Amino acid sequence: MNNYDVIIIGGGLTGSVLSYELAKKNLRVLLLEKDSIFNNATVYSYGGISYWCGTDETTIKLCQEGINIYRNLTKELDYNIDFRELDLLFTIDKNQDPESTFQQYQKFHIAPKLLDKKETNSLEPLINIDAISGSLRFPQGHVHPEKMIFAYQKALMRLGGKVKQELVISVEKNQDKIIGVKTEKNSYSASQIILCAGAFSRSILQNLGINLPLYFSHAQLIMTPPAPVKLKTLVMPCTMKRLDTEKKVAQSAEKIWQKESNTLYGDVLEAGAIQFLDGSFCLGQISQIIPNLNSPIDSVISEKRLRDAIASILPSLANLSGKWHNCQVAFTEGMPFLVGKIGQIEGLSIFSGFTSPFVFVPPLARYFADYLVNGEETLISFNL
Ligand SMILES: Cc1cc2nc3c(=O)[nH]c(=O)nc-3n(C[C@H](O)[C@H](O)[C@H](O)COP(=O)(O)OP(=O)(O)OC[C@H]3O[C@@H](n4cnc5c(N)ncnc54)[C@H](O)[C@@H]3O)c2cc1C
Repeated sequence: MNNYDVIIIGGGLTGSVLSYELAKKNLRVLLLEKDSIFNNATVYSYGGISYWCGTDETTIKLCQEGINIYRNLTKELDYNIDFRELDLLFTIDKNQDPESTFQQYQKFHIAPKLLDKKETNSLEPLINIDAISGSLRFPQGHVHPEKMIFAYQKALMRLGGKVKQELVISVEKNQDKIIGVKTEKNSYSASQIILCAGAFSRSILQNLGINLPLYFSHAQLIMTPPAPVKLKTLVMPCTMKRLDTEKKVAQSAEKIWQKESNTLYGDVLEAGAIQFLDGSFCLGQISQIIPNLNSPIDSVISEKRLRDAIASILPSLANLSGKWHNCQVAFTEGMPFLVGKIGQIEGLSIFSGFTSPFVFVPPLARYFADYLVNGEETLISFNL
């Protein structure tokens, strides 16, 4: 069968969750993913569920609903996604003032707890306390990212949805109406297509002549096999630099994003780490703004920078054997996501550009699925 109600392009976090929510509504769903093994921003992420990060009525509601979904998700999907409650520790650099840093984080609906060096050390003994002046502790959820998308895709298939490993090469339309997609192997028809291709959604939009505020960074990190050392929290530096850089390059969109180039417009190194339940680590992260999805990244230099930064804050992790990876992460401006029907083409939608996607994607996918099926906009406007 090559005819579906809805085709989702991209099988990362956004596409896997939204496909499942649409299949729950009895739609005939096809999820198209170009890679045979998971190799995307989702599987190289920490998997932290930042349910503290709401700043207004909408995001607070999504945070609360998001964490509640996770608390029942293993049961709902009938698959163990390694969900747990795990503290997030934002390390405050030794040159930063703890009190004023603490004040900057009061805008979130769950305020952090300010810990001094001694308290930080007793919570997370692996942190080098000579490198910090304190830390902020947030309650957070955690999940295994790859298990999560695997679980959603399995649940989708149990509902009758199809998952195919095929690269979408074009979105097909008749005048201004969606009629389907072409992949390298096949053609599929559907009256609705949803772009969940993360950073790659930008080039799909460009090929359709649509200009939306969707941008991307190149993220670099190291994944390790299980190691005997034990990290008790998710550690990240207390800095808004990455979000500030993303905002700046989004605001200079005209100048930066009009044509592909290998120019480096932003570079932020945030030394952080998470240990998964099997003992393996993800050590991150460098985020570089280079407006070319295929820009070459020097892995030797990048890995050295990552290890040097980790050595300063989490010395016992710096020399763990591991594999360097690069992936592309989508972001938008103004809102923490870019979700809705795209006005110019009937039947075309986007579900991408998330900041803190692990908390926002599951609840927002439910609202968006409701909207696509019933036309109900109960939370936000879904018209772009
Ligand atoms: C080091 C690191 C740590 C992070 N930690 C966190 C965290 O703790 N919490 C959090 O909320 N977020 C975190 N993130 C961000 C988060 O991982 C990503 O924003 C999110 O996973 C993106 O999901 P996505 O579905 O939009 O994109 P992706 O996971 O990149 O999925 C897009 C998919 O689309 C497919 N695709 C693209 N083009 C096509 C095509 N033409 N045809 C078919 N398929 C196509 C790709 O192969 C890919 O699988 C982190 C990111 C990094 C790099």
